[in-house]
Amino acid sequence: MGDILRRNTRQRQAILEVLRGMTSHPTAAELYNAVRKRLPRISLGTVYRNLEVLARLGLLRKLEFGGTETRFDGDLQEHYHVRCVECGRVADLHDLPFDPSDLRVEGLGGYRILGHHLEYVGVCPACGTRMRSDGSSRSAAPGDSADQMVE
Ligand SMILES: [Zn+2]
Ligand SMILES: [Zn+2]
Repeated sequence: MGDILRRNTRQRQAILEVLRGMTSHPTAAELYNAVRKRLPRISLGTVYRNLEVLARLGLLRKLEFGGTETRFDGDLQEHYHVRCVECGRVADLHDLPFDPSDLRVEGLGGYRILGHHLEYVGVCPACGTRMRSDGSSRSAAPGDSADQMVE
């Protein structure tokens, strides 16, 4: 029994450390692949379970946005996210002003407000570059060697 508890603690610690070393906001499956390099025998189920426990303990944040797979963030500082609509990558926006006093607004339907979610969406620099060089962008320069689009 004690052994199992110790092993769980070690696994949980490893998952948290790996997550904190990543800035990509991995999905559970992506995190599992990274954790496996340290703990080759860990299972995906164990990673899922520990992520739930760590989220409940407030040691990581779950990012659940409409229609996308849950991602995990080891950065507990308040910050916003921007998601690329092309490749799905999620980046941090640390420089936006965040005013926690906004959360204490009274009278929001009688709710005691615990927080809020805000997600920006856009096209990341890498996808923007790729779209331009593909000629898939509608604003392709005339005379481009890309196929002529007749509309
Ligand atoms: Zn992208
Ligand atoms: Zn983040």
